[in-house]
Amino acid sequence: MPTYSHSQLSTYETCPHQYRLHYIQKIKVDTAGIEAFMGSRVHDALEKLYRDLKMTKLNTLEELLTFYHQSWEKNWSETVQIIRKEYSAEDYRRLGEKCITDYYKRYYPFDQGKTLGIEETIYFPLEEEKGYWIRGVVDRIALLDGSILEIHDYKTSSRLPGQADVEADRQLAFYHMGVEGKWKDIKEIKLIWHYLAFDAEIQSLRTPEKLQQLRQETAELIRRIESDRDFSPRESPLCDWCDYQGLCPKRKHRIVAESLPPNEYLQEEGVDLVNRLVELKEKKGVLIEEIDSELARVEEALFAYAQREELEAVYGRDFVAKIKAEIKEKYPLKGDPNRKALDEFIKNAGKWMEVSDLNPWMLARILERGGWPPSLAKKVKEFSTIEKNRSITLTKLKVRD
Ligand code: SF4
Repeated sequence: MPTYSHSQLSTYETCPHQYRLHYIQKIKVDTAGIEAFMGSRVHDALEKLYRDLKMTKLNTLEELLTFYHQSWEKNWSETVQIIRKEYSAEDYRRLGEKCITDYYKRYYPFDQGKTLGIEETIYFPLEEEKGYWIRGVVDRIALLDGSILEIHDYKTSSRLPGQADVEADRQLAFYHMGVEGKWKDIKEIKLIWHYLAFDAEIQSLRTPEKLQQLRQETAELIRRIESDRDFSPRESPLCDWCDYQGLCPKRKHRIVAESLPPNEYLQEEGVDLVNRLVELKEKKGVLIEEIDSELARVEEALFAYAQREELEAVYGRDFVAKIKAEIKEKYPLKGDPNRKALDEFIKNAGKWMEVSDLNPWMLARILERGGWPPSLAKKVKEFSTIEKNRSITLTKLKVRD
């Protein structure tokens, strides 16, 4: 039964190649970012808080923090990576401590509702007939006033989302679907995010229409995943946190090159080839600049000569230069502030189709990004042919530490 989770779908949206390595090829990596490590330790502590409460044991803040630090030390390993070099492991550890402390003080004595589930696994069919299932783990489920079900999720992220972001959040909406009908007499299901680093609580509700829309969008995304044949890497600032950089065509050479000692670095074949290419392109740029300015000088002199001698053709050894001086009308190009007004004017005059043209590059880009409904995209793609292009783009690297 094809089963998907929110993080699995997010991985695909972030980078299809990472998705393939992790979820299809199931390649295990033994590194983890410190942000995820700290988040897990904070989750462990809050899980303990509510598990013990179920057994009527209320931990003091000190007990909870002791547990947090023990869990940090027990789980710490050299494979935990710190990407943001301006911070140390201790900085992250203190941030986790602050998250727990703020949460504890804000909700003490934790009697806001009855805890029904902790780290509760949900599993439900997205579309029974297609056989897609969704799974997830809810941090905590609580019952308020006997009829309000609360889904709590703890986040240690350093970015606080706005209300519009949480209204569009897929993860907790899945949890809503997963717990629906599980308990009797529930009148409302509340989604609650605890952004612990900000000591902030954000809430949202989902209407049946919104959930139905999410079902459709998710099914569409799954169909896109299942029909993907390339799983192309998609570079973004998140690549620095990707555990698969060593297996990624966009990043693996960087990993290899950076691991070489300085004396071997410049000898490495790829590094050497790129350096030579840059050198030649720079030389070419200088030569082109010199030739262009010489060309402009000669052209100017030729125009002056033709004007002085009243000539429209000047003869050289093998070529004749025909001199033409004319005045032409010029219309605003894309990006020119007057261009929009001109477009509007021509459209209103009903002449748009006579001057407009399909932009095949733009069309390919929209289809690549999944910007049109699949049925329409499929039909348009029938007009396409496959062409293999090769290109090398040089991008200046940041200075190595
Ligand atoms: S390094 Fe970036 S592009 Fe490569 S697999 Fe990871 S996320 Fe994708």
